[in-house]
Amino acid sequence: MKTRVENEFQSERELFEEHIRKSGLRRTSQRDLILDIFLRTEDHLTMEDLYWLVQKEDPSVGQTTVYRTLKLLTEAGLAREVRFGDGKTYYEHHYNHEHHDHLICTECGKVIEFFSPEIEHLQDLTAAEYGFRLTNHSLRMWGICQDCQRSIEEPHQTATGAQPKVRPRSVPGGQF
Ligand SMILES: [Zn+2]
Ligand SMILES: [Zn+2]
Ligand SMILES: [Zn+2]
Repeated sequence: MKTRVENEFQSERELFEEHIRKSGLRRTSQRDLILDIFLRTEDHLTMEDLYWLVQKEDPSVGQTTVYRTLKLLTEAGLAREVRFGDGKTYYEHHYNHEHHDHLICTECGKVIEFFSPEIEHLQDLTAAEYGFRLTNHSLRMWGICQDCQRSIEEPHQTATGAQPKVRPRSVPGGQF
């Protein structure tokens, strides 16, 4: 089992080791565990999310260690930060992952990843139009996912039934 996992993330491991060495740090079993759990989780995680996943496997790992390791992973190009307008910083896999953008449900917080060559092309054209040399971009669209649309359209029957059920829609905050 161990060898399988080791082979699976071989190049990620090497990248991380190299970055750790360059930063004058040592490899530790705790950092290795955090790296493993991060690589195994194909999701958008906050530092706290990752901390709880690590806690399940080794309760002796502190929050600061998880935080610092996540920073190292980001510096090494294995993780990247993404923000979905809820004031939190999420991390996702970066290395060996195709560029993608995000649709964010303001009802349930679901995040859908998408890639549109047409949109990518339009962004390049827009940048060129302004003589702007594009180095990076992040496109996020907020709205209501299919599941949430269904539950809004079919509200639970209430005894009074007179008032239309209007859900307050959370407005994404100004923090990006
Ligand atoms: Zn894009
Ligand atoms: Zn939703
Ligand atoms: Zn993503």
